[in-house]
Amino acid sequence: MTLAPDRLERFARHIVLPEVGGAGQVALDQAHVVLVGCGGIGSPALQYLAAAGIGRLTLIDSDTVDVSNLQRQTIFSPADVGRAKAEVAAEWVKRFDPAIEVRALALRLDRNNVDEALSGADVVLDGCDNFATRLLVSDACVAAGIPLTSAAIGRFQGQVASFAGHLPDQPCYRCFVGDAFDAEDCDTCAADGVLGAMAGMVATFGAMQALRVVLEGHAALGEPQFGKLHLLDGLKPSLRTLNISRDPECRSCGKP
Ligand SMILES: [Zn+2]
Repeated sequence: MTLAPDRLERFARHIVLPEVGGAGQVALDQAHVVLVGCGGIGSPALQYLAAAGIGRLTLIDSDTVDVSNLQRQTIFSPADVGRAKAEVAAEWVKRFDPAIEVRALALRLDRNNVDEALSGADVVLDGCDNFATRLLVSDACVAAGIPLTSAAIGRFQGQVASFAGHLPDQPCYRCFVGDAFDAEDCDTCAADGVLGAMAGMVATFGAMQALRVVLEGHAALGEPQFGKLHLLDGLKPSLRTLNISRDPECRSCGKP
């Protein structure tokens, strides 16, 4: 498997990196990444996933563009207000790199559609705005054996972690947050406010961690760092990394 001359040129700065190289770029080209949420996290993350040359993207968001999104959701413009975010995001990808195969799902994930929506993914990057969807996505990833990169923001705190809960020694997202967050009404981000550049920092970090997952087995950058929680403090700024423990009683990944 080799890349066409125009692709070699487009990704020349990746290919010269010893940590990525030609083999790594081919792996990115062959990869299917599912992005859950095309908002504050998903929008900048999408830009860097597409720029990295991910060959297939599935974009999921049930929301429409609001004028208050434009302060941080970098792929949208005033003309998009009122339109489905997933559709506008797919159009952005097609303009940016017509070689990318993109699928838009303008729907709210639920028990009935989540498995099909995530099917065939090499990694799911979750940047959605509610815990109920995050837990639904995590449980589906564990069941289907799909790695999950989670990126979340609250004011000036960012959390980025990759999970492989389907592997016997690895925690899942539910091990990390527990069962209390399945309720739909525990989300506060909209009322809290968020600085656009902070969302961008967490989003691009999430994209970087998802790229590590894709590159596992193909390039030196491919150490997926499963089970490591990276905590970003945007005010100081600082970064701390913690190990997440596997919960043997976990409803999702624990042994029955
Ligand atoms: Zn678990």
